[in-house]
Amino acid sequence: MEKWSRGGGLRMTFLKLSVLPILLLTLIVTVFTVVSSARTLRREVESGLRDLNGAVCAAYDMIYPGDYTVVEEADALYLFKGDHQINEDYSVIDEIKENTGAEITISYQNVRVITTLTDANNNRLTGTMVSSSITREVLGKKIGRFYQKVPIGGTDYFAYYAPLINSDGTSIGMLFVAKPSKEVEKMVWKTATPIVVGALAVSAVMILIVTMFSNKFLQTLIGIETLLKKTADGNLTAELEPEILKREDELGDMGKNVVRMQKSIRDLIELDQLTGLYNRRYVQRKLEAVQAKSLETGEPFSVAIGDIDFFKKVNDTYGHECGDAVLMDVSARMRELMKGRGFAARWGGEEFLLVFENYRLEMAADSLEDLLKLIRSRTVAFQEEKVKITMTFGVTEGGAGQLDRIIGEADKKLYYGKNHGRNQVVQQNIVE
Ligand code: GH3
Ligand code: MG
Ligand code: MG
Repeated sequence: MEKWSRGGGLRMTFLKLSVLPILLLTLIVTVFTVVSSARTLRREVESGLRDLNGAVCAAYDMIYPGDYTVVEEADALYLFKGDHQINEDYSVIDEIKENTGAEITISYQNVRVITTLTDANNNRLTGTMVSSSITREVLGKKIGRFYQKVPIGGTDYFAYYAPLINSDGTSIGMLFVAKPSKEVEKMVWKTATPIVVGALAVSAVMILIVTMFSNKFLQTLIGIETLLKKTADGNLTAELEPEILKREDELGDMGKNVVRMQKSIRDLIELDQLTGLYNRRYVQRKLEAVQAKSLETGEPFSVAIGDIDFFKKVNDTYGHECGDAVLMDVSARMRELMKGRGFAARWGGEEFLLVFENYRLEMAADSLEDLLKLIRSRTVAFQEEKVKITMTFGVTEGGAGQLDRIIGEADKKLYYGKNHGRNQVVQQNIVE
């Protein structure tokens, strides 16, 4: 839970950097697509209406050849096409409406003479007027024009008006072909809806992917940050989740570097700088743990102290640096020997403490004899010098009680060895 309640600042940054742009992009793409597809659709409807307008004209020309003429009498007006009187004859326009769904009107000047348009009571809107601006634009200039919203009888129409041109080029009326604007809008939305839904679905998937990615990223960062905090608090054995260490990117590197840093700090605290063995302070803590474990499990442990014989002479004869080289060589031998047996530490100048886990006294002494044999047989080369050394060890078996007393016992045996010829492992109890 802690993991998810943290990382608030970065989570917000991620949101700002990823989700907001996705939403913005989706919005822009959707609006652009909807607007352009609506425009295309309107153009299609527009050209459909224009074609239908031409087709209606052609149909009238074919059925009733001749010009449009008007005969006006007292209070009546008769519109002819050729020699056929077309007012009151709705057969042609009604049939076309039935086949295409389009509304059709033929007007004389601006007066609707025959029309498929009806009012709420189903009465045809004959005798009503076309707006003067449309009449002026279409009849006056003798050009066909498209209008997006023509209000007629309470309904808006998507309409194409064209002048009816006679053989002498004159024009006495207009042909209106239209569809209700609402119907066209409905078609637009029908086209737009899948686009909007698709865009929303794509952006939802993108947001999901980005959120999953950023959560994983944050989880990793929080893991590294938690380890850093624990390290800063002094916990140098806290571990990083293996998943983070397995990453082969910069975050994986960062995790590995924190682990390395932790190890460097641990080494600085735990190890002796010259020999790389545990230092005195740290080995005391380790020894406490070994003793506690031994008391708990009943397994034995043994402790030895070793000291290089006549080491002062090495320094005096070959120099301090050569002395250091000898210390390093001896330490390396000890570390090798103690692998799987326990551990070695630098106890003081040329003194070492060795702790054998699960080892009885005799077994520890045997191991030390092997070590001493190896040390005796070695020649440490330093510059032109070749140095041979020996060591003296005192070893004792541990148990309950003060660690100082156990170490003191091993020390006493070492002292005995120093006074009885050096170059040996002393394991027997010393009677004072
Ligand atoms: P013994 O056999 O009785 O142990 O004789 P010893 O000469 O080894 O003992 P002593 O205590 O007289 O001398 C220890 C010397 O170890 C003195 C000191 O200068 C040297 N020493 C301690 N630490 C270091 C170190 O880090 N490097 C070097 N080169 N010498 C060190
Ligand atoms: Mg010595
Ligand atoms: Mg000494």
